[in-house]
Amino acid sequence: MTERYEGLKASGGLAIGNLYLFNREEVVVDDRKIKEDEKDLEFGKIKDAINSYIDQLSNMEGKSEAQKNIASAHTELLQDPYFTDTIESKIKNELKNSEMALDETIKEMVEIMSQIDDDYLRERASDYQDIGFQVMYKLKGITPKDLAHLEKGSIVISKELTPSDTSNMNKDAVVGFATDLGGKTSHTSIIAQTLDMPALVGMGDISTKVKGGERAIIDGNQGLLIVNPSEEELTRYEVLIKEQKERKERLKSVKDSEAITKDGKKIEVSANIGNLEDLKLAIENGCDGVGLFRTEFLYMQSSDFPTEESQFEVYKQATQMLGEKSLIIRTLDIGGDKGLDYFDFPNEENPFLGYRAIRLCLDKKDMFRAQLRALVRASAFGNLKIMIPFVVNIDELKEARSMVEEIKAELDKEGIAYNKDLDIGIMVETSSSVIMADKFIKYADFFSIGTNDLTQYTLAVDRGNENIADLYSNYNPAVLRAIKHVIDVSHQAGKWTGMCGAFASDTEATKLLLGLGLDEFSGSSAKIAEIKDTIINSNQEKEAEFALTVLDCELTEEVENLVKEHK
Ligand code: PEP
Ligand code: MG
Repeated sequence: MTERYEGLKASGGLAIGNLYLFNREEVVVDDRKIKEDEKDLEFGKIKDAINSYIDQLSNMEGKSEAQKNIASAHTELLQDPYFTDTIESKIKNELKNSEMALDETIKEMVEIMSQIDDDYLRERASDYQDIGFQVMYKLKGITPKDLAHLEKGSIVISKELTPSDTSNMNKDAVVGFATDLGGKTSHTSIIAQTLDMPALVGMGDISTKVKGGERAIIDGNQGLLIVNPSEEELTRYEVLIKEQKERKERLKSVKDSEAITKDGKKIEVSANIGNLEDLKLAIENGCDGVGLFRTEFLYMQSSDFPTEESQFEVYKQATQMLGEKSLIIRTLDIGGDKGLDYFDFPNEENPFLGYRAIRLCLDKKDMFRAQLRALVRASAFGNLKIMIPFVVNIDELKEARSMVEEIKAELDKEGIAYNKDLDIGIMVETSSSVIMADKFIKYADFFSIGTNDLTQYTLAVDRGNENIADLYSNYNPAVLRAIKHVIDVSHQAGKWTGMCGAFASDTEATKLLLGLGLDEFSGSSAKIAEIKDTIINSNQEKEAEFALTVLDCELTEEVENLVKEHK
């Protein structure tokens, strides 16, 4: 009998295959306390196990760029002195054996990471879990089961898959996977996306529901696993898979093309990045530039505010990697849900409406000046632009601009080069900046709409609150009217508007955003080819007419239905 299971869409695509149930080997942790004279021996065992795993990770042969990135992220975690110091202290001060010390340290790290109120960082808990398994196997001398030798056409079902499991999969044999646990932004999901393999996560208890060996369809687009499908359903999916293959071939040839509509409007299709690894991936995916470099990750990964010099090196490298292409770097957007280990934020009832982003930067001017100086200096090496987040009042932008002017004067005196025409824009992500857009545009060289925040502030709906998630929609007519207003104001002033909120990567919305007049889309690297393909096959004027119909809607549902029907 056919059974259907729903899960979170970790990676899109369709495949038909046979289920393979993957169970990780059970590891029993030795709980024996050690004697004083065994301390060095036990700590030595851990060091050897860690080094042996680092050696294994350093073998990059045949690995994709994403796999290399994950291997280097794991190497960094293994080399983090806090990690080894914690294990050493458990062995030497608490007389725990190497297995117990490792097990407890990993559990503590996973616990800490799981509580962080940021999807990306929270998902890093699975990376700790992963290195924990791998080092434990080394300690115990176990050769872990891997997914490299499965039969062709396998759909892997497991309680969870670590990034190592996923990256060791033989992609000629595995056509998809589904797991009980896991989130959409985990490294496991990211690997599935780069392998271009349909994947579902967060399926509850799928690993206890199937036996293995069943025929199944995995539909990553709909978040569906269909076990023992009917002949009709199999035939329907075979047709869909063939169409998907043809579409993928077309997209491959489109990724490096210019995105110009049939009636000649050129659109920039850029990427959002958080570090240089993301930038490499964005360039491979054919980005026209970077529309948002979230610099807070540089601050979150440091043990103190990063210096001007250390930031300059990163910004300069990113600028050079992009050559003439535009690189928009956002100044520090910390606070809200993003904290820093080395800075005490005030206790606030509403941190999202509190001491954060430009407010904090203008309050801690020395810290802000270091970042601005790094940015202005890096502007000498390419097409760098500065973007200020979370502005509400015109004087915030003016103050930031005048700090840049002061820095330019200092650099002139010091004989240090920079781009004299350096553009400074703002993120439009508050209601105030929408309503005052005609005034802001006098002092901003461009706008970039941050729909993640703009939607929450326009609709008074917390973007992270699951209880009201159905009210949070970029398709709400109020949000769309705000977007249209901002774009129109910038065009009247002879300037441009981009979008760096997640709405820009929603490929269902590409035509609508094109019709609203958007000049630049910036989002997930994985979506670049698809967005370009839609733009190339669209007519801007025709989409502008469609957008007018949409703007006349009263309800979000009406908009969604119109968008779905519109081809
Ligand atoms: C946004 O608010 O849309 C945005 C791009 O910024 P962040 O998600 O970092 O707040
Ligand atoms: Mg924002």
